[in-house]
Amino acid sequence: MSESLFGDESPDCPQCGAQEPRPILYGIASEEMVTAARLGHIVLGSEDATDARRLWQCRGLECNYRF
Ligand SMILES: [Zn+2]
Repeated sequence: MSESLFGDESPDCPQCGAQEPRPILYGIASEEMVTAARLGHIVLGSEDATDARRLWQCRGLECNYRF
């Protein structure tokens, strides 16, 4: 249903098992990225890429687990 912006298979959340976590994007956000983040399609990470090991954020409202 949700076409991935990035074409990768998204893993299930290891914490709660929810599917289709939001990808976390690092670096300077483009206008498109900011819009996508507002719409909840992606999560903006820090501009500093040192935290870029976490690639996904769970959609679960009470989970929001990053992995
Ligand atoms: Zn979760």
